[in-house]
Amino acid sequence: MKLNRLERMLENLEGFSDPSPRLEQYRTPAPLAARLLFHAALKGAIEGKRVCDLGCGTGILAIGASLLGACEVVAVDIDTKSLQIARDNAGRVGADILFLHDDVTDPETPGRIGHCDTVVMNPPFGAQQLHADRPFIDASLAIAPVVYGIFNAGSRSFVGSYMAGRGVIDEVISGLLPIRRTFSFHKDEFREIPVEVIVIRRMVA
Ligand code: SAH
Repeated sequence: MKLNRLERMLENLEGFSDPSPRLEQYRTPAPLAARLLFHAALKGAIEGKRVCDLGCGTGILAIGASLLGACEVVAVDIDTKSLQIARDNAGRVGADILFLHDDVTDPETPGRIGHCDTVVMNPPFGAQQLHADRPFIDASLAIAPVVYGIFNAGSRSFVGSYMAGRGVIDEVISGLLPIRRTFSFHKDEFREIPVEVIVIRRMVA
């Protein structure tokens, strides 16, 4: 599948119906999702692989991974309403995904997900709940040897030092996350948040 076609398919998916600020429910824009997934696919991290989407929301990354030929996709979120939208989205494009209603902060969650080859994720940035991104880093390293995560721009040094001894940063790709006014505390109608896709490789213990 070509990048443009993937982007168009992802663009047509339903977004959050009633996003929760506490859970930092922001939809990943289709161009950023498609770029992350294509990049991972070119590195051989998607096709024929077991892929996990942590904090899947409405399912854009999980669905994209499935469309790019992942052999199995597990998508996890704490919010049942989002999971229902994600299920409907997957059904609409014929993506076969295992949805799991689970809490990434629960240390037992990686065990329930099982081993995966690749994690793709757009976790909460920790803007509402300080350090909300940390359990996602922990869980992803417990689940897979390769992780593609979207973080606030400038997170590189934090992510690197937080993972010390557990994972290393392979690559950082800059991007933009366009956000329309979603929550009452948003002052601007539209804002572009600079983000980075951080590619993490787990260190062998
Ligand atoms: N990956 C989606 C959603 C990103 S928003 C997308 O790209 O569109 C972050 C997601 O993380 C939300 O769907 C939110 O419900 C989920 N989330 C937040 N805290 C969580 C937790 N502790 N466990 C599982 N999911 C969580």
